Amino acid sequence: AELDTLDIIVLAAILLGTVAYFTKGKLWGVAKDPYASSLAAANGAKAGKTRNIVEKMEESGKNCIIFYGSQTGTAEDYASRLAKEGKSRYGLETMVADLEDYDYDNLDAIPSDKVVMFVLATYGEGEPTDNAVDFYEFINGDSPQFTSDNEPALGNLNYVAFGLGNNTYEHYNIMVRNVDKALEKLGAHRIGAAGEGDDGAGTMEEDFLAWKDPMWKDLAEKMGLEEREAVYEPIFGIVDRDTLTAESPEVYLGEPNKTHLDGTPKGPFNAHNPYIAPIAESYELFNVKDRNCLHMEVDISASNLSYQTGDHLAVWPTNPGEEVDRFLNVLGLGEKRKSVISVKALEPTAKVPFPTPTTFDAIARYHMEICAPVSRQFLATLAPFAPDEASKAEMTKLGGDKDYFHEKINVHHLNIGRVLEIVGKGKKWSNVPFSVFIEGITKLQPRYYSISSSSLEQPKKISITAVVEEQKLPGRDDPFRGVSTNYLLALKQKQNGDPNPSPYGLTYEITGPRNRYDGIHLPVHVRHSNFKLPSDPLKPVIMIGPGTGVAPFRGFVRERRKMVENGQAVGKTILFFGCRKSTEDFLYCKEWEEAKQIMGDSFELVSAFSRENGSKVYVQHRLKERSKEINELLEKKAYFYVCGDAANMAREVNNVLAQIISEERGVPEAKAEDIVKNMRASNQYQEDVW
Ligand code: FAD
Repeated sequence: AELDTLDIIVLAAILLGTVAYFTKGKLWGVAKDPYASSLAAANGAKAGKTRNIVEKMEESGKNCIIFYGSQTGTAEDYASRLAKEGKSRYGLETMVADLEDYDYDNLDAIPSDKVVMFVLATYGEGEPTDNAVDFYEFINGDSPQFTSDNEPALGNLNYVAFGLGNNTYEHYNIMVRNVDKALEKLGAHRIGAAGEGDDGAGTMEEDFLAWKDPMWKDLAEKMGLEEREAVYEPIFGIVDRDTLTAESPEVYLGEPNKTHLDGTPKGPFNAHNPYIAPIAESYELFNVKDRNCLHMEVDISASNLSYQTGDHLAVWPTNPGEEVDRFLNVLGLGEKRKSVISVKALEPTAKVPFPTPTTFDAIARYHMEICAPVSRQFLATLAPFAPDEASKAEMTKLGGDKDYFHEKINVHHLNIGRVLEIVGKGKKWSNVPFSVFIEGITKLQPRYYSISSSSLEQPKKISITAVVEEQKLPGRDDPFRGVSTNYLLALKQKQNGDPNPSPYGLTYEITGPRNRYDGIHLPVHVRHSNFKLPSDPLKPVIMIGPGTGVAPFRGFVRERRKMVENGQAVGKTILFFGCRKSTEDFLYCKEWEEAKQIMGDSFELVSAFSRENGSKVYVQHRLKERSKEINELLEKKAYFYVCGDAANMAREVNNVLAQIISEERGVPEAKAEDIVKNMRASNQYQEDVW
């Protein structure tokens, strides 16, 4: 119903193009193609949005739906890869669906000749991703209510399950495990094994690839599908909009949505709609030359955003110009970078991941995660479009041979542009349909930062504390540099007087689309978290936050300090902070002294320096030294918080705490571990780790 004239023109153009292609141009120029308008009409039918998944499958003729629960985009990416593969290899009519967009009470009405796939990431401390919260509560609830009286409730449902997790966390892949259990209990039939990918071991991609092949075999057998030679079928059509230029007002140059394009962004500001926040101040926290850690404050007073101490700020980064150039040039799009295109879903259930009409430059700069390491499967997808036989053979080998891929690509963490440069030996990859990249490269994701300010002290200004990411790589002189943090570094340099900042040789379109970020702004939104101080200020708190893990605790300490200034009494507030050297990376060193002045005995900072005095002292050692006091505080119901490195520190702190409890209370270690588990379950032990 909402199909506008533009949509029709664009769709018709795509279809005419396709028809022209298949008929070798004979029909080109036919103004009114009946087929074009019927598909345009079918596409228009999707406009009325339904939350009824059965209705949706019926109206769009789908027999395979792939739900995703995704936080950082990987699960969503895997879901669309499954969708594409199911269609091209097995002729399934697939669709990808955000768990948030549908109701679940009629999962029982999905007929048994269809299949539902769940690709579910486990987030943080065994939590569902934001978009999967409702689904998880529903399916994992005591007795989920379905629309019919089927017995068992999900006896008709065939499903496939893959989880994305991290084995360094306590609740490894708990989402997929619990959902699988719940579905099974409700009588649903799983096809293939429930797969588990492990980010902690760095094997996510290979786990996924190893899981999916046997799963497809089982599914094909169960549904009677014939495997065929996969042919690429675009999900998106690209249309040149020759009548438009990058100066035309309706062309998106990186604006996230229509209100931003119109120059009148409106709230609510959220994961779909950032607030372009003025940067109030920014400065360097380290005293060393080769490493950076930024303190940055954004002003939210002109927005309706609010936050609470302990929440997260999501930062919407842009890619560095050098990588945008590399990517566009290797595709042969360097000259066409400012050409205007429209992208339309050729599939009623597919969503174009960014607004159009837009330019290639804007897509690469603002919307695609072009700096991320490439996946093996994606290289296989690109092989048929290689510029010559040699690079086609190389891409096929890279895509098919796990060890070869690991040696050539993975250890060097090459991004897509670099791989194509190396494999093509300088040739342009101009045969690859651009839709392949739209489908195959993850959307550029916002990065989260633990808010390091206190909402009691400054409700309208949010600060973050971000260490600038850099990773030395074998065989490369230039280390990998993090997308978001180097962008923040450039913003900081600009704010502090450098008109053309280029940290480590990287440059950014710092003034944003149509210069709207000038003056100087950062696109953000706030993500609310459960990482919170106890509501009773008299409760003691123990905080473990080495490195940038100190970020939320700066907020906590400033909050309690403000309470003291307001004449309120606060409980004991102990912060364990660790870094390399007191003279180099001791974050907020002066502020802790001030806090001590104001808060007196109720505040204590315990520091651990790992590269001073010859001995490697870490926060967990300091914690152990204070066993008696820590145990006493816990017995007074102190809250215990850990923030920072998920891989090692958080786990070691957990173990040390169990040791402390065991020794101080004279209970066996297993019992002490249970006590720690219970503390976690009752929120007395909280983690904010990444
Ligand atoms: P990215 O470009 O995302 O790269 C990150 C890492 O990915 C690299 O170090 C590398 O290991 C790998 N990588 C990606 N692509 C490549 C490639 N092509 N080659 C090699 N390696 C690659 N950080 C803070 O500093 N302070 C905080 O308070 C903070 N709080 C957080 C809170 C939460 C809830 C979460 C989830 C994360 C938090 N982080 C925090 C981490 C932060 O979100 C970012 O992950 C971090 O700043 C890096 O982002 P980036 O864009 O600079 O790096």
